[in-house]
Amino acid sequence: MELAERIRGGLYGVAVGDALGGTTEFMSPLEIRARHGYLTEIVGGGVWRLEPGEVTDDTMMTLCVADGILASPADPMQAIGDRFLQWYASNPKDIGNIIRHVLGTYEGDWFEAARAADRDLGQSAGNGSLMRCLPAALCYPAWTDASRASRMQSKMTHDDGLCDEACDIYNRIAFAMLDGGAALREAIGAAVAGTGYEEMLSSDPNCEPSGYVVHTLRWVLHLLLTSDSFEEVVQRAANQGGDSDTIGAIAGGLAGVHWGYAGIPERYAGRILIGERLDETCERIVALRRSAAPGGQ
Ligand SMILES: [Mg+2]
Repeated sequence: MELAERIRGGLYGVAVGDALGGTTEFMSPLEIRARHGYLTEIVGGGVWRLEPGEVTDDTMMTLCVADGILASPADPMQAIGDRFLQWYASNPKDIGNIIRHVLGTYEGDWFEAARAADRDLGQSAGNGSLMRCLPAALCYPAWTDASRASRMQSKMTHDDGLCDEACDIYNRIAFAMLDGGAALREAIGAAVAGTGYEEMLSSDPNCEPSGYVVHTLRWVLHLLLTSDSFEEVVQRAANQGGDSDTIGAIAGGLAGVHWGYAGIPERYAGRILIGERLDETCERIVALRRSAAPGGQ
């Protein structure tokens, strides 16, 4: 599969998981069943009263990270941060507590703002940096660069080693598929080896599908390891409820890299309201990779 196909699959995968799961965020599986049966279509609504195909913070912050890296690949922190602040100024409907605190109190030092949020809120091990980290693997053809950007963007808002670790594992999986030609299960197995997530290779999540980054990543890995298609991954995330848009976005990103854009049903990809922006971002990522390739091809 061509790299551009996987990159486009990854970005659309985040958006589709977000738009589908946004309908059922904060609901229980029983409430979802009563209202939707088994949700299979992007219909909008939910707690944020979404338009069908509208995405939330998960996709918008992913685009902030992508655009920041594209603007300043060698040192993207401030470019990413500027885009976080622009997005925050747009008064988004869906924004996590930790990120709201950081963006509302930032005074020139991202890591300090993240430390203050951790201190003031008593913890910051949410999934808000994991949900947006995929562009680090999509944009950089060298793992050292992808890893550095992945951890850095996490520390900008989440001062907790659990978040750094989750972003690192996630982007290792993406990178192995993008640049190493690895299959999904093989990529997951290598990335979780020696970590607390290793048991997910043979275990159920045994936790709520919550916004706690450890619970989120356990669910994401479980969905990826036990589904046979892109569609199945994002539908199961949506019908599990809880932090369903974010779990769907995170799982959808890796599912999209694995199955490629062509593996995402057209009735999903075609529904995303910001599809043109996603397409344009994909083209710029592919161009960045070409310019970084030996010989500038
Ligand atoms: Mg969201």
